[in-house]
Amino acid sequence: MIKVKKVVSGGLKENCYLVYNSESLQVAIVDPGEDGEKVICEIKTHKLKPELLVNTHGHYDHTFSNEQICHEFKIPLAIHKDELEILIDSKKSLSLVNSLRTIKKPEILFEDNQKMKLSFTTFIVLHTPGHTKGSICLLFEDFLITGDTLFAGTIGRTDLKSGSHEEILKSISKIKKMIPSLIIYPGHGSRTTLANELRHNPYLIN
Ligand SMILES: [Zn+2]
Ligand SMILES: [Zn+2]
Repeated sequence: MIKVKKVVSGGLKENCYLVYNSESLQVAIVDPGEDGEKVICEIKTHKLKPELLVNTHGHYDHTFSNEQICHEFKIPLAIHKDELEILIDSKKSLSLVNSLRTIKKPEILFEDNQKMKLSFTTFIVLHTPGHTKGSICLLFEDFLITGDTLFAGTIGRTDLKSGSHEEILKSISKIKKMIPSLIIYPGHGSRTTLANELRHNPYLIN
């Protein structure tokens, strides 16, 4: 059975998600956030076995501990191909301290709609530009990890570098067509369902 554990990390209270199989304990880590130590501790406490680290986008609050996590568990990093320039540029990733540390280079650059196979599950990479140009959502069987594209009650800001309000609205319209029972795990704040957002989120109500 696939389970999702949330670890809240850093000053912006970014959500790191551990997507794992409760029998094999294999885990994919999504957006480790700023507090790598906290994520590593959670993984070790539950004896999880990391396979892959994925970034929904390049902003530092989601990616700051990439290098630490990949080094600790010897796992590859994956991000959308259009997001690489944001990840590796301290100004574009909004970090003031990025220049002081090693920036982890991703081994995997996702294409749109790429199917990513793990040992215990498969997910689909949906390119959902708008918050940044290479933002992605990860579609698993009955849940969607949305990064900073969709939150409970609102959508991501688009006034930062490579952001576009027009693009995020197009991305949101793609999400709106998915099955309403999908559980939504956003990059900040509490989880929700698509059905709930279709009823209450002003950006999803027609
Ligand atoms: Zn962001
Ligand atoms: Zn964020």
